[in-house]
Amino acid sequence: MNLVVTDKLSKNYHRGSETVHALQEASLTVKQGELISLVGPSGSGKTTFMNLLGCLDTPSSGSYLLNGQEVAGLQESQLVKVRQQNIGFVFQQFFLLPTLTVKENVELPLLFNPTGKSRALDLLEIVGLSSRRNHLPRELSGGEMQRVAIARALINSPKILLADEPTGNLDSKNSEKVMSLFNDLHRQGLTVILVTHNMDIARRSERVIRLADGMIQDG
Ligand code: ADP
Ligand code: MG
Repeated sequence: MNLVVTDKLSKNYHRGSETVHALQEASLTVKQGELISLVGPSGSGKTTFMNLLGCLDTPSSGSYLLNGQEVAGLQESQLVKVRQQNIGFVFQQFFLLPTLTVKENVELPLLFNPTGKSRALDLLEIVGLSSRRNHLPRELSGGEMQRVAIARALINSPKILLADEPTGNLDSKNSEKVMSLFNDLHRQGLTVILVTHNMDIARRSERVIRLADGMIQDG
């Protein structure tokens, strides 16, 4: 089953009188359960593409079928729902709230989704941090913080996990642990798309998509 089908998806930014063609006619199909790495030089459009895939931003043109639903023309009020039902997002900077415990951080998205059922402790078990549930983020290593962020991204049982340079702030040992976690989640059936500069990490995915100058490169 195709979870993601983009057709000639484009995004332009306007900087003064200049138009930046950040993503140009990107056509990508992702099947349910795939593990994909998105690679390319800085400024090639990786974050732009991930933000569109995660419905955090809207395209300038093109089509995006997410789990069979056209989302390219939706308003923010509708995109909130689409994100809640489909998307988990992990960022390079973790974005944990410093005054909340690990468990409270994982449960945070439930504030905006009253129908969500708390699986925070199960998820902390999966990411190997249940013993840290009552700690504050500052008491954790970077790798542990990112694993908390991954648990938080999974709390609403998303169909797809998007991670934009998730190991960008981690040393090689912690990067390895985070990548092993993505591999585990993928083996359990989750669809994962991650941006990485690290070719060791990209090699561990099933498919590598290359971007250059806002365009998907063939082959
Ligand atoms: P990457 O993640 O591969 O480094 P980005 O998607 O962040 O690339 O950026 C692609 C291009 O779009 C770059 O030229 C960048 O400067 C430009 N860009 C990204 N976001 C904005 C924005 N909000 N406004 C203007 N230009 C932007
Ligand atoms: Mg980026």
